[in-house]
Amino acid sequence: NYTAVLAENRKLFNEVQDLRGNIRVYCRVRPFLPGQTKKQSTIEYIGENGEMIVANPAKTGKEGHRMFKFNKIFGPASTQAEVFSDTKPLIRSVLDGFNVCIFAYGQTGSGKTHTMSGPEGASEEDWGVNYRALNDLFTISQTRRSSIIATSDVVGLMDIGLKNRSIGSTALNERSSRSHSVVTIHVRGKDLKTGVPMHGNLHLVDLAGSERVDRSEVTGDRLKEAQHINKSLSALGDVIFALAQKSPHVPYRNSKLTQVLQSSLGGQAKTLMFVQLNPDSNSFSESLSTLKFAERVSGVELGAAKSSKEGRDVKELMEQVASLKDTISKKD
Ligand code: ADP
Ligand code: MG
Repeated sequence: NYTAVLAENRKLFNEVQDLRGNIRVYCRVRPFLPGQTKKQSTIEYIGENGEMIVANPAKTGKEGHRMFKFNKIFGPASTQAEVFSDTKPLIRSVLDGFNVCIFAYGQTGSGKTHTMSGPEGASEEDWGVNYRALNDLFTISQTRRSSIIATSDVVGLMDIGLKNRSIGSTALNERSSRSHSVVTIHVRGKDLKTGVPMHGNLHLVDLAGSERVDRSEVTGDRLKEAQHINKSLSALGDVIFALAQKSPHVPYRNSKLTQVLQSSLGGQAKTLMFVQLNPDSNSFSESLSTLKFAERVSGVELGAAKSSKEGRDVKELMEQVASLKDTISKKD
């Protein structure tokens, strides 16, 4: 069906243009938990164009309010499906040879795991980005007739990976994870028309909690672990800000995390950060530092805005569109 392929290509072309270059930041505010009695929210306003206002519970008036703006904000009522529908184009571009990195950042209990994986043993409706991404990629590659393994096998592998995360309890949340979880999907394919091989990587990262060490009241081994985690998070920040400043040296090698993510941070890679917030006013100061970090990350340009590779990708798509048009006109 040429017309459909044409339409899909045109859509892809626009999306590729739209998503390239910058780090996108989506903010997601989780709802209050069932059974929570004192519900004082620090999120005062969520607008339709990605703006939000947070209120400092200790201050009134103008001084106690601060506005932030991101690419998108998902409020407490947002569903997993809604979140995924805005993430899907990015994930799909992996099939076209892009490297993509999606990570969830925020304090423990802010909903990172909910967004990336969904609740434990979730039904399809509650699946997070991980499972939906795999499902989507396999469905598409199946229709593109690539040779694949079954989705269920990968879901099985992912479960094993998740079970192996070191999970320790802290004062903040007994389900809190003290480790980063990285799911990497390598996509290898061949352009069905030209036979040109291509590959893309997708990294799906559920980062460890970003809270300051003292807050979790941890000691001993847990404290060492927490300091190590904070170190790798700040290494991630350093990489992003080095990219932002177009610094000739990007310190990827300063942490295992940034080494693993190197191919998907910088250059032509596309990066999306979910900034997770706990709306509780008790979490105001953590939320504020999370938002300040996100604000610095937001709008960071990765690598050269226009490289020869970009020119080539766009050109290839245009050529494909032209050749499809040609085929259609010959058919008529
Ligand atoms: P984190 O991974 O950041 O520590 P979790 O994803 O474990 O946080 O979320 C903390 C708690 O809040 C969990 O009980 C989770 O099920 C719940 N939760 C988080 N986000 C949502 C949401 N969008 N809708 C409903 N419950 C949520
Ligand atoms: Mg978690």
